[in-house]
Amino acid sequence: MQNIEWSKLPFGYFKTDYNVRCFYRNGQWGEIEVSSSEIINIHMAATCLHYGQEAFEGMKAYRGKDERIRFFRWEDNAKRLQDSAEGIMMAKPPLDLFHKMITKAVRLNEKYVPPYGHGASLYIRPLLVGTGAQVGVNPAKEYMLLIFVTPVGPYFKEGFNPVSIQIAGDYDRAAPQGTGNIKVGGNYAGSLQPTERAKAEGYAAVLFLDAKENKYIDEAGPANFFGIKNNTYITPESTSILPSITNKSIMQLAKDEGMTVEQRKVPVEELETFEEIGACGTAAIITPIRKITDRKTGKTYEFCKDGKAGPVSTKLYKKLQDIQYGEETDKHGWITFVE
Ligand SMILES: *Cc1c(COP(=O)(O)O)cnc(C)c1O
Repeated sequence: MQNIEWSKLPFGYFKTDYNVRCFYRNGQWGEIEVSSSEIINIHMAATCLHYGQEAFEGMKAYRGKDERIRFFRWEDNAKRLQDSAEGIMMAKPPLDLFHKMITKAVRLNEKYVPPYGHGASLYIRPLLVGTGAQVGVNPAKEYMLLIFVTPVGPYFKEGFNPVSIQIAGDYDRAAPQGTGNIKVGGNYAGSLQPTERAKAEGYAAVLFLDAKENKYIDEAGPANFFGIKNNTYITPESTSILPSITNKSIMQLAKDEGMTVEQRKVPVEELETFEEIGACGTAAIITPIRKITDRKTGKTYEFCKDGKAGPVSTKLYKKLQDIQYGEETDKHGWITFVE
């Protein structure tokens, strides 16, 4: 293994030594298999390739000052994967299988868990796919749950950097009665066009509005949206939003801080009234937003006038990171040690 410069790690794929796999065949999950190959061999008629039977998760293992490695709310990720499986008719991995597999994947690659103090962590990517062959549109009879890990640096190299995002206006991410509320790859395929266009136009991501009326804020690409005003944390409620575990945790921390938390419809015009806004998810935890531009009308909403993240976003970000790295008491029982 080459010497890794932990503080310079990108947020991207970095090869580790092993991944773990488990196959569902004949109505049951088999033994956990360890592989050192980055390649998977699947049937050309596998349903994941043709009919999008694919769901994934994203979580991290953190090494604390005490050297111990921690999972953050792993059971929430396991349950969400079960919801995703159910949503597109795949076999549901049991919670204890999920826990055994993430534990094995982390322990086998322990030397890749970044040491404390660089803002780096080990990203864990569980992947569930239909591997059974079907030519007509039917759910597969066979599935694979694969878990690989990759060390990742802090999402923002220069620290906590406010970004600009764009309201596309001519694309929807997910339909109100569709699959937006589960973590399936299909939702992402449809978001590539507006996202790549937004990047080419100088924005970090797309802010999607509700697909039915195009009036309410839904999600910011692969992250939930929040706004802060009058000591209140406000985050959109919608049937097409992916329930972010980071967002759920921040809502709790905001309550702990004595803030009011509202989960409700957020009309686009309300952007005018927020003191701070941001996006949240496992990758970056919190991404402060400094500007939103509506591509259709050219209207812009600006925040962080001094170029820095707002005080409330910063405080919530720090609180959550401190729990994840074991610097703050885990009073909500979110941490599980890897052992
Ligand atoms: C994964 C994901 C998020 C963030 O969820 P976390 O559990 O906080 O990582 C938000 N939106 C979408 C669409 C996602 O896929």
